[in-house]
Amino acid sequence: MFRQYQEALIRLFYPAACEICHAMLHLEENILCRDCAGRLDVLSWPMEETLVEERFEHLDHAWALYAYESPLKELLHGVKYAGKDYLLKTCREKMIRLAQAVTSDFWYDAILPIPIDRLKLVKRHFNQAEILAEMIAPWLTPPLRLSLLAKRHSIPSQTALTREERAINVYGAFRLKDPRRVAGGSFLLLDDVLTTGATANEAARLLKHHGAKRVDFLALARTVAPEEKNRILSVALRAPLGRGHCKQCPHAKTV
Ligand SMILES: [Zn+2]
Repeated sequence: MFRQYQEALIRLFYPAACEICHAMLHLEENILCRDCAGRLDVLSWPMEETLVEERFEHLDHAWALYAYESPLKELLHGVKYAGKDYLLKTCREKMIRLAQAVTSDFWYDAILPIPIDRLKLVKRHFNQAEILAEMIAPWLTPPLRLSLLAKRHSIPSQTALTREERAINVYGAFRLKDPRRVAGGSFLLLDDVLTTGATANEAARLLKHHGAKRVDFLALARTVAPEEKNRILSVALRAPLGRGHCKQCPHAKTV
């Protein structure tokens, strides 16, 4: 009770604003106002809908929690370009639930956040994929390995490139710090956004090249094709958790 009074008093003198629409927050709201939090919810897939359907040559399976649309876009923009890493907390619970569903269905030897290059790290002071991984790792069984995968150099912009050109563009962008730990292993790559998939695919290629038997990918959000948008937004938002069916292999998975 004392804590509630204390927080009310702090808000009175230091009012907090929603990080997306800048409306003044009510006492029970945190980081986002109710409207923006609701709009964020609309972008999340029910667990059985979260499989990324595109095929990536070296990835076995991929999942993403949200469509990469507004207001999630603004949220991640704030994380990456305004240094507001705390905004990732708004996605914490749902991301933990999805990661638990993914990792309870299959054994992974490690979770590997996709590294960023040194220049970006100096500019940003953090890697958002690592923050995301550290946020969910305490609730997962597979260990988090922050240093196994490293970025060798930055990747030039991919936007104007074809699928084949993107693969060439990212080729050799990663290196393994200890390749001996990879052979025979299963790994779950983790990143904030899946856009073209070329970066995730290249990391998976390197791991497979060194003998990994399975590489999956989990993203907070992924870009969606315009024709897919309507389907996502019309999907039942609160579908009960149940047995989902993997669209890339014949096995059904409990999610
Ligand atoms: Zn708002």
